[in-house]
Amino acid sequence: MAQRTSDPITVLLVTAAGASITTQVWASGATLAVTGVVGFLAVTNIAWTIDTLRRHRTKHTVACPKTGCPVRISMAGVKPDEQTRLITFAVDHTQHGSAA
Ligand SMILES: [Zn+2]
Repeated sequence: MAQRTSDPITVLLVTAAGASITTQVWASGATLAVTGVVGFLAVTNIAWTIDTLRRHRTKHTVACPKTGCPVRISMAGVKPDEQTRLITFAVDHTQHGSAA
């Protein structure tokens, strides 16, 4: 009878061990996938940060080409489309009103 009572326990332990290993393998795979996603996000975030820092460090000053016109636009950290708009405004003296 002792053998009979121990058998289900052994089976249970083996099953539990098997489930545990399966869970570990699954968790390992999941961890690997999560690590991959986190790594991808980290790389994306680093690229974004570098791009932002580069834009903030790059300062452009555009002056009106008209002699005597005091209009000068300094820009840093602006997006390319905004930069284009500001440059277009800076070099178009007809938009500077009574500045000169
Ligand atoms: Zn001007």
